[in-house]
Amino acid sequence: MGADFEKERHRLVKRLEEWGYVKSPSVRAAFLNVPRERFVPDDLRASAYDDAPLPIGHGQTISAPSMIAIMLEEADLGPGENVLEIGTGCGYHAALLAEIVGPDRVVSVERIPALADLARANLAACGYRVEVVVGDGTLGYPPRAPYDCVIATAGAPRIPNAWKEQTRVGGRIVAPVGKSRMNQVLVTARRVSESKWEVREGTACAFVPMIGAEGWKA
Ligand code: SAH
Repeated sequence: MGADFEKERHRLVKRLEEWGYVKSPSVRAAFLNVPRERFVPDDLRASAYDDAPLPIGHGQTISAPSMIAIMLEEADLGPGENVLEIGTGCGYHAALLAEIVGPDRVVSVERIPALADLARANLAACGYRVEVVVGDGTLGYPPRAPYDCVIATAGAPRIPNAWKEQTRVGGRIVAPVGKSRMNQVLVTARRVSESKWEVREGTACAFVPMIGAEGWKA
């Protein structure tokens, strides 16, 4: 079974490259190294390498690999960079981030305690050193700020101020932002100086809602 998953993983990465989602060697290597089948629910393992979102319990979903690839390319990360993820879910995206920036450089905030536990177990089982914090990620995570990148995997009505304050000059925020709870556009905001941001709107997307003080109501 293990060998089959590896073959499927290579096939998926090849397709993501052909379709133009995976561009950089570091994103490619991350997708080849993280065993997605170990982050999805057992009964969905056969679908682990479909390019589709999958349910992970508690009404939440893990994004399609192509969507994650778009976000990782937008994030433009290098080794050693300090990353805050909002919305840990099953921990898959956090593992990819850790592959790119290295161990102990990723902290991820999750509002549902059971999912934080699941992510911790998945990440530890695969050997990833990522800090998972339970809380409202719309407030960021001040103890490890400033960040080179804040990357959100749930859709907020706007970019929370806390994320801007906790991003260093030269840093990026990659987040789905939208006027409705279920539909967003992917926004990449780069802090070019203390007070100036370059904001780019990318692809349309449909993430689960970001629920919190600077997000949507529960
Ligand atoms: N990156 C995840 C995708 C998880 S789906 C993965 O690879 O599996 C989005 C997650 O965001 C859900 O688990 C949801 O509970 C969480 N979430 C929603 N609002 C949040 C908030 N304010 N703070 C932290 N997590 C939040």
